Amino acid sequence: MAEDPRDWQQETKLVRGGMARSPYGEISEALYLTQSFSYDTAGAADKRFSGEDPGFIYQRFGNPTTQMFEDRLALLEGAEACRATASGMAAVHVALQGLVRAGDHIVAGRALFGSCRWILSEWMPRFGVDITYVDATDLDAWKNAVRPNTKAFLVETPANPLLEITDVAAVAKIAHEAGAKLVVDNVFATPIFQKPLALGADIVVYSATKHIDGQGRVLGGAILGAEPLMTESYKDILRHTGPALSPFNAWVLLKGLETMELRVTRQTENAAKIADVIGAHAKAKTVLYPARADHPQAEIVAKQMSGGGTVVAFDLGSREAAWRFLDALDIVDISNNLGDAKSMATHPSTTTHRSMPEEQRLEIGLTEGWVRMSVGLESVIDLTRDVSRALDGA
Ligand SMILES: *Cc1c(COP(=O)(O)O)cnc(C)c1O
Repeated sequence: MAEDPRDWQQETKLVRGGMARSPYGEISEALYLTQSFSYDTAGAADKRFSGEDPGFIYQRFGNPTTQMFEDRLALLEGAEACRATASGMAAVHVALQGLVRAGDHIVAGRALFGSCRWILSEWMPRFGVDITYVDATDLDAWKNAVRPNTKAFLVETPANPLLEITDVAAVAKIAHEAGAKLVVDNVFATPIFQKPLALGADIVVYSATKHIDGQGRVLGGAILGAEPLMTESYKDILRHTGPALSPFNAWVLLKGLETMELRVTRQTENAAKIADVIGAHAKAKTVLYPARADHPQAEIVAKQMSGGGTVVAFDLGSREAAWRFLDALDIVDISNNLGDAKSMATHPSTTTHRSMPEEQRLEIGLTEGWVRMSVGLESVIDLTRDVSRALDGA
């Protein structure tokens, strides 16, 4: 009897979920690099376009390789539907835009990836959508921000770059009482360690560029959620505005998913050890890592995350010290990506968050001494030596 893939363990879903074999019986998923599809008869084309026959029409609407990626990720997330996008930002943009219209209002946590902040502060207002930012750890702030026209909440948890944690279940409850949908950017937690839909979120977004690829090759994104919300909110905007994921990139990401659990688990073990190395060093004023007992929201972490993730943030007290640390690294790259097999570190206030005005940076606690490090798959022995030497030199 055929098994239901939804009953499989996570690791099995990642390797086999969504596989749709061609008649050749290939072991590795086929890469269908085709824009269009042909129909046997004019009547068949008519049925395809009417939706009576659910087959493929055009790559902007769907593609067999892209669909394998969507189905695998949906299975992992426990979502009814997944739509892949060309980048994480396309996913965030469509996820929000599909929920609002002129006159509506969005509430968002104020510690957000820089481009997400741009979409909310600069882009949405052009179309008559108002934004309120809140301290995402303050449940009363979410409640107080609600207006009669609030349609969406957006939260990133852990947030970039200081790994602030939001109680997803509590914020989902506030959103639903307000008649709004909760969108969670789950990039930092990864689909391995946090399942926002199970916690009550309506929509989850990913930058697949990060841990899902995890090997520095392609951009990609995904939006996941339940039906009919996914179809009602996103089907037409995706078809007609065209942020489709390339099937080539979908294929790379499918192969990325096969090893993601292994990679993310090992990277997280390394990150926990590196966080302790940094925490024990005299040069580090503060270290923030979700799985450490001294994380300010450790209780919420214990409730909603099954692992601390691959990113560590720490304060060396000044820009000079942070730069000396980065410049003294030998193995770890200075780079703004994260979730990669290669460890990398960045100085957020002059790179990823430089477009954020200083007073907003200070609001989220981002002073110039902070460094964000994404821990990779190198030996933790070598990483410890590299980081320790760079801290000595800071
Ligand atoms: C990288 C990132 C994005 C944007 O993803 P791209 O694939 O670079 O477009 C959005 N949210 C978070 C939290 C990210 O880290």
